[in-house]
Amino acid sequence: MKVIDCHIHLGGSNYTDLFPKYNSTVERYLAAVGKLNDVEVEKAVGFSNPVPYLAETKDYFNKSDYYSEKNREIGRKCMQYDNFLFAVSVNPESSFSRDEIERCVSQYNARAVKVHLGANKVGPGELEKKGIIGSAEKHNIPIILHGSLNYSDKLERVISNNRNVNFVIAHLGFLEKNYVSIVMNNKNAFFDTSALTSKNFMKQVFFIKAFTNICPDAGHFTIHPFFNELINVGINYEEYIKIYRNNPDELFNYCSMDLKAVFEKYVEKIGSNKLLFGSDESWDSIGRQINFIDSSDLSRNDKNNIFYNNSRRIFF
Ligand SMILES: [Zn+2]
Repeated sequence: MKVIDCHIHLGGSNYTDLFPKYNSTVERYLAAVGKLNDVEVEKAVGFSNPVPYLAETKDYFNKSDYYSEKNREIGRKCMQYDNFLFAVSVNPESSFSRDEIERCVSQYNARAVKVHLGANKVGPGELEKKGIIGSAEKHNIPIILHGSLNYSDKLERVISNNRNVNFVIAHLGFLEKNYVSIVMNNKNAFFDTSALTSKNFMKQVFFIKAFTNICPDAGHFTIHPFFNELINVGINYEEYIKIYRNNPDELFNYCSMDLKAVFEKYVEKIGSNKLLFGSDESWDSIGRQINFIDSSDLSRNDKNNIFYNNSRRIFF
């Protein structure tokens, strides 16, 4: 089976104090792929999230060099391998981002832009203001977008105003209502499946549901009604936060979700032509995720769209 993997972290280790264990390198990825049976990863889209991962201080993230240095390291690395495509990571707050995309397209043949609005805690309007969308459009490359829940209601305007650019929203948008309707309503919006089988993904979904439980009209972010019945969160928001801080894995004693039904619902409601396979290596396991999707009840045609056809169309 042929696969294109559109979401791979290549920033190294120690992204944050919370997640020091992940070591995301080309070598580690290739080792994981080497263990797969009957799977050929034809192309792998890797990006260079700088380390540390989260915006610990604003100042730190405003240093343009902070991104450039990692892009240089990972961009060069990707060029050494035929099957790696480089996605340039940029800071949505920085006015250097447009130049950084230009540089990485010309020097490392970058074929996508990766932006993490959540880590930088800024709204999607910055993508236009900082020239990030303009640059992606000029080079006809997609934007892989990790959204920010706080601004999920602001994203649709930006996506629908920029129809010439494809947006790939990471992690299935965490089942969030605004993201789901954006992908349903806009031809240039897609989801990647990255992190689907990881605990981090489920904890984030539980968080949204726990939050919505105390604050049903907090308004802007909530689980999409398609999925509500498939997620069970048996604790309140305060309890969620307490457990998350002390021993996050204990959340699974109180919270659960029918992952298989969730995934099949995505395909049923949104369509297999809108979902791109992304592993989230090394935060999630490519082998586990391929097995999960491949053993679902979807048709072969749906699986081929997700594993290969959609990415082929969007990244090439
Ligand atoms: Zn990721």
